Amino acid sequence: MDLQIYELIEKLHTTHSLEKNEYLALIEAINDETVEELARLATEVREKIYGRDVFVRGLVEISNRCKNNCLYCGIRRDNNNIHRYFLTPEQILSCVQQGYSLGFRTFVLQGGEDRYYTDELLSSLIDIIKKKHPDCAVTLSLGERGYESFKNLKEAGADRYLLRHETADPVHYSKLHPKEMSYESRMSSLYELRALGYQVGCGFMVGSPYQTPSELAADLKFIEKFKPDMCGIGPFIPHKDTEFRDRPAGDAVLTCYLLSIIRLMIPDILLPATTALATADRKGRERGLLSGANVLMPNLSPVAVRKDYALYDDKVCTGDESAACVECLKTRVASVGYKIVTERGDRKGFL
Ligand code: SAH
Repeated sequence: MDLQIYELIEKLHTTHSLEKNEYLALIEAINDETVEELARLATEVREKIYGRDVFVRGLVEISNRCKNNCLYCGIRRDNNNIHRYFLTPEQILSCVQQGYSLGFRTFVLQGGEDRYYTDELLSSLIDIIKKKHPDCAVTLSLGERGYESFKNLKEAGADRYLLRHETADPVHYSKLHPKEMSYESRMSSLYELRALGYQVGCGFMVGSPYQTPSELAADLKFIEKFKPDMCGIGPFIPHKDTEFRDRPAGDAVLTCYLLSIIRLMIPDILLPATTALATADRKGRERGLLSGANVLMPNLSPVAVRKDYALYDDKVCTGDESAACVECLKTRVASVGYKIVTERGDRKGFL
């Protein structure tokens, strides 16, 4: 390995910080040897903190109705080719109940920005879940709801919030989103969530249109500075009803390489091997775990709506019942020497 790259990896490993141009050099130095070395160090760090445990989050996709029009996303407002749905509170509670019996202790309510879910409705839902299952965490992934709403939902008992920053470069952000969405608003939402006491997750797509190594280096520098509790990254995958339909999908190896870098940057971060990674690579979940990831987020949504929650084409795991998904995941996780645990799985040291 090039001496300069070796030294950068060593610096990242020991100081958890690099200059932006150093992140860029590291990204550009991706090859079999650097991929392997970073994965080796990242799993070592992960095992020191989380052992071989894998935390699971039960994902409930509560609605694919969305007022936003993100250019890359299959459930964007202007896509008239999909069947829109939303789950009723009763349906959501039934998914959570089933997930609880399967061993889940964190539930992620994710969806498009659907006005049906008022603060009042969500608060009562969160309250019911937390009262029924005091040993569980509730994570929200419902977009930019604004400070007051974030505050109300925190007070109702929500523990964590996932809001990917999508890209830490304002010009790149404007190429991925319509004019009415803003980089500043996305970023200030993340700081608001942090100030309200949520465990906060940011993240981005790997290989999104117009992304170059320089934008990725900006993402890494932002993550280093923001120090999120969680970080969701997965390859961009085109969706046929978007203008990015002919763009190439993001690379699974690069995604794993970035997972390793993020693990070394923030040793105790909660880092999922995402469904998009599993879609881009049949062994994506296993490879993610072997690159420093320690979280999986299987789908608990009713099978009848899974195909409708298509952010991108060919999403995996849309046909299986939740119980079958869990069995499949257990086998996959065991195949790489790790073990799924029945725990809330907070970031070490957060509580
Ligand atoms: N509406 C919510 C959550 C749903 S979108 C929100 O805005 O946070 C969840 C994530 O899916 C997005 O943050 C985006 O990074 C990812 N995503 C959307 N379209 C995608 C695509 N075509 N390929 C890969 N990931 C995509």
